[in-house]
Amino acid sequence: MRTAPPLTSPDLLTVAEHRTAILAVTGALPAESVPLGEAAGRTLAHTVHAAVDVPRFDNSAMDGYAVLFTDVAAASPSDPVELRVIADLPAGSVDEPVLRPGFAARIMTGAPVPRTATAVVPLEHTRDGLRSWNDAVVVERAPARPGSHIRRRGEELRAGAPVVPAGSLLGPLQLSAIAASGVDAVSVTRRPRVAVVSTGSELAAPGTEVSRGRIPESNSVLLASLCRATGAEIVAVSTVADDDAIFAARIDRAIHVDGADVVVTSGGVSAGTHEVVRNVLAGRIAFRSVAMQPGRPQAFGVIDGTLVFGLPGNPASAAASFEAFVRPALLALQGRQSLTRPTLRVAVAAAWRSPTDREQYVPVMLDRTDPGAWTARPATVAGSSAGHPVAGLANADGYAVIPASVTVVSAGDLVDVALLP
Ligand code: AMP
Ligand code: MG
Repeated sequence: MRTAPPLTSPDLLTVAEHRTAILAVTGALPAESVPLGEAAGRTLAHTVHAAVDVPRFDNSAMDGYAVLFTDVAAASPSDPVELRVIADLPAGSVDEPVLRPGFAARIMTGAPVPRTATAVVPLEHTRDGLRSWNDAVVVERAPARPGSHIRRRGEELRAGAPVVPAGSLLGPLQLSAIAASGVDAVSVTRRPRVAVVSTGSELAAPGTEVSRGRIPESNSVLLASLCRATGAEIVAVSTVADDDAIFAARIDRAIHVDGADVVVTSGGVSAGTHEVVRNVLAGRIAFRSVAMQPGRPQAFGVIDGTLVFGLPGNPASAAASFEAFVRPALLALQGRQSLTRPTLRVAVAAAWRSPTDREQYVPVMLDRTDPGAWTARPATVAGSSAGHPVAGLANADGYAVIPASVTVVSAGDLVDVALLP
């Protein structure tokens, strides 16, 4: 990996500086209570504490027989012990048979263990297993110790103990842990409401003819899907021509009618002649140069309480800008503990150049042939200045994020790859 000393320029923000400035004005949205069945994909606003002991009562870990340990402590295939079966305890049973010496209770997994029992003998350790469906059972193997195969009340969690911490994303496993602890509703942050506005007179919306001079519009579906994947709710998606009045009206509507917490625009932030976002919003949000590739021109500010992101229009730039700035902000709005994607450090399989003093976002494909040594190679032609190819993005497994000081990434170098789902 070749590096160069940093070039410093007061006009150029680092990615970290721009992101820090954004997060400084991004507080968590209010919490609301939702039933567990509707909580998937939401972020916990408050730590969940167990409502009951887990397990709730001493119960059997096996299908078998509840016994007195002392009765069977010496049982063996050559010296089996016969016990009288005095009860049948399926899961859900509330019976409380009293075990005296020589007695056993047939018990199924999860059923409450009688208070007098001191061990459970699994079916497999009896002579006929399930086939011995009669009044006696012959135990051929001793349980390891008193308490064997009994799950004790509160063994996993005591009522009141924390189950899932605030700031966690609720997925299937978190939801089931919460349900298992006797809790049926959770406090989650409200979903951020996002409006996506793509700008460009050249854009042909999906379903319209791509005549000469026009290109297929792709940022709307890109940005809306990326936002949704963070847990946000999309309240409006629109594409507008490079017309100041139309764009101004659309932004006003997103903020004041659609009630957007966040507006994400694409295009119109550079230094050309028809930069509609810059024309309309200069003075209300900040237009900055950020030391990254792609995605150098960035706009951000707060208008009437709404976070407004002006991303560059090139789809590869918009996608990288989303990763660097919008995604962390959408997660912060949800109070998420971690604002970064899972990151893997892998060796690169093919060299590429990285611009001096720009943090580079390179979509990469992972080669997982050797599970012990994944490698990464660019999914698109990285660093080409003549536009950033976008079709190749579809092959990307993640973004290699190359520090600003690096000028050449060589085969074998280790790079950080932010994994895409
Ligand atoms: P801009 O940032 O507006 O100068 O746009 C930069 C480049 O990205 C131009 O080639 C645009 O045609 C292209 N572009 C801008 N917006 C979109 C969009 N929504 N979908 C696809 N390409 C776009
Ligand atoms: Mg444009």
